Amino acid sequence: MTRILAVTNQKGGVGKTTTSVNLAASLAQSGQRVLLVDLDPQGNATMGSGIDKRTLDRSVYQLILGLATAADVCRKSEPGKYDVLPANRDLAGAEVEMVELENREMRLKVALKPIVASYDFILLDCPPALNMLTINGLVAADAVMIPMQCEYYALEGLSDLVNTIKRVRQHLNPILEIEGLLRTMFDPRSSLAQQVSAQLQSHFGTKVYTTVIPRNVRLAEAPSFGEPAVTFDRACKGSQAYLQLASEIIERQALTGALGAAA
Ligand code: ATP
Ligand code: MG
Repeated sequence: MTRILAVTNQKGGVGKTTTSVNLAASLAQSGQRVLLVDLDPQGNATMGSGIDKRTLDRSVYQLILGLATAADVCRKSEPGKYDVLPANRDLAGAEVEMVELENREMRLKVALKPIVASYDFILLDCPPALNMLTINGLVAADAVMIPMQCEYYALEGLSDLVNTIKRVRQHLNPILEIEGLLRTMFDPRSSLAQQVSAQLQSHFGTKVYTTVIPRNVRLAEAPSFGEPAVTFDRACKGSQAYLQLASEIIERQALTGALGAAA
């Protein structure tokens, strides 16, 4: 079974793209077949995977508007060993053009359908907004992964996101669930981070991943080399954390699969 995860948080700069790219590379290193979909006109996941967003003939823009198929748009991340549906600033236009189209919330889901079965995991790197691109991500996904920094305002933003997820579940995608909350850029010496982390665990329980992503400069440096940190410097603390996250997700998946089969 393919697992489609939307990596979402409408708050900017919380580590969505760093997580999408490094989790994609980590899952690929564990032998999983992985597709990363860049749903952000910033194109950071595309660049971070080693694909030049300025030279794309076709991108998620054409895919969403029905002007190209997923197979046409699909590229390989050479360093990361996973497939990518890349994006660049053209995608900002799709946001506007989609308004006129039928089933505009379903465009991505429909476009991915022919290739879903070729992958074990599909990660959707969403933009920092609860806009139509993010809604397309939430409609196409089985579950949501929420990266977040353990800061004072983190929980406030979370309730908007949780409400959006509920609304999408009611109207557009009944199976959508929260896969997990990921603590990113974590500094264990900060007492605020410890407090917010404890609050998260009391609200969301086991939905909070055991794995914590530390603040680590190698994770921030890797994109400038057009490579996931996990391949650029596998030994650094940040890469090790993402490799551990991949194991945690694969284990969870195996467990739910086994429970599903027993039911
Ligand atoms: P946006 O909302 O703009 O899409 P984002 O949520 O995708 O942002 P990233 O681009 O992944 O966030 O990260 C924001 C910045 O923080 C980047 O410069 C990134 O390199 C850096 N960063 C992300 N995670 C870490 C980390 N664990 N340690 C240090 N720096 C990090
Ligand atoms: Mg991003």
